[in-house]
Amino acid sequence: MTIAVIVLSQQGVTIAKQIKSGLPDVIIYGLVDRVVTSDVDHSYQNFGEVTQTLFRSGFTIVGVCAAGIIIRSVAELLNDKWQEPPVIAVAEDGSAVVPLLGGLKGANTIARQIADLFDTEAAITTSGDIRFRTALLAPPPGYSLANPEHAKTFLSNLLAGQSVKLNGHAPWLIQSKLPFSDTATELTIQITSSDGNPSDRTLVYHPPESNPSGKLFVIGTGPGADRWMSPEVKQVLKQSTDWVGYTTYLNLVEPMRTHQIRHDSDNRVELDRAAQALDLAAAGRSVVIVSSGDPGIFAMAAAVFEAIETIDKPEWRTIDLQICPGISAMQAAAARIGAPLGHDFCAISLSDILKPWSVIEQRLTAAAQADFVMAFYNPISTQRRWQLDRTKDLLLQFRSATTPVILARNVGRSGELIRVTTLGKLNANDADMRTMIIVGSSQTRILERSGHDLPWVYTPRRYQPE
Ligand code: SAH
Repeated sequence: MTIAVIVLSQQGVTIAKQIKSGLPDVIIYGLVDRVVTSDVDHSYQNFGEVTQTLFRSGFTIVGVCAAGIIIRSVAELLNDKWQEPPVIAVAEDGSAVVPLLGGLKGANTIARQIADLFDTEAAITTSGDIRFRTALLAPPPGYSLANPEHAKTFLSNLLAGQSVKLNGHAPWLIQSKLPFSDTATELTIQITSSDGNPSDRTLVYHPPESNPSGKLFVIGTGPGADRWMSPEVKQVLKQSTDWVGYTTYLNLVEPMRTHQIRHDSDNRVELDRAAQALDLAAAGRSVVIVSSGDPGIFAMAAAVFEAIETIDKPEWRTIDLQICPGISAMQAAAARIGAPLGHDFCAISLSDILKPWSVIEQRLTAAAQADFVMAFYNPISTQRRWQLDRTKDLLLQFRSATTPVILARNVGRSGELIRVTTLGKLNANDADMRTMIIVGSSQTRILERSGHDLPWVYTPRRYQPE
């Protein structure tokens, strides 16, 4: 569920940004002329209008303003408590967080999450929630309450002190303070896909089974050029409802955006991004995670599976998940210069953020000994400058200083730069995080071309040991 944080003042922007960095899927709306436009995702003219539009579209609404302002804005739209989205007021200094509406859609849970960000308590007023620390009537995405008509009596029995037996798997309830007892005879919570025999003594939840409409596509846009993006990827982007990704990659596909909601992330924690996309898909959205190049090569596809495996959310396992391949940077770089990957090769990321440098060194050594052509991803960043020099020294123990090396920067994007040098002359200053490097094997050749600055580089298919 997308959270719209609506602010009226520049002071509110600070609060809104804190909410955005702490919760997934937040879009900030700022009042035009009162807040700096570049600080918010959208500007609006009229508070009442934007609030009503977002409310009707089912957005969770967080107003950084007085509760009264929001209440008056949505008052005329209130007619169905089962449908209304969460509406929450947050004080301009973050000192108070008040869930106003949408208790059945998880308003209290979101209010608590926001309150946690500001080290305060959410002003929860619904009694079941206060006592049991869970909203029985608002199960997480994927689950549905089969017999809401019995909920009121069930809840008052709980509040009167009766204990309850849980049949089935309900991770969100386990963490609550519900008076669970295996021997309880009065009340039962049943997690089942059949309707069974609901009564006011048995609350029945349907677990997530299949999400006929919820889909997740992990796509690769190719290295950057439109003509290197597959038709499948273009179609998936067009037909989806939500795009999730690192801002740089979302910007690359922004010209193709029509109605899709962007969920930009600046943070480098891929697992968070994957979890956010999985949650959106589990809630029935058609979600695309945008990677550059190929999504399965040092990119988001593996992060999605890590999230599914390590985070206990059964509803994710039913998502219709599809990986759409793309042209990887090494293929594009190779194509620009000839055929350096024409014989056996390997791809190695030089980033030691997710693996220890000792493992990288061991792999480099083994690959050098095996005489593979090597494609290096993530060769350098502002935090990692020495790794490439160290790589060069290591490779020089096994390979001649005249081994061809290709430095390919921004392939397929504006500012593309391809250079050919040798291992002996490789200089870490020639690479950055938008560069990929191909180091030849003992067989890789440079062919000079007349009338061209760049030679051809290729690796023959036949092997002649030295
Ligand atoms: N999934 C991507 C790789 C992501 S890792 C793919 O398959 O291409 C990020 C690294 O990829 C960068 O540090 C750089 O080494 C390389 N890279 C990605 N796009 C590139 C491009 N257009 N030109 C050159 N290198 C690129």
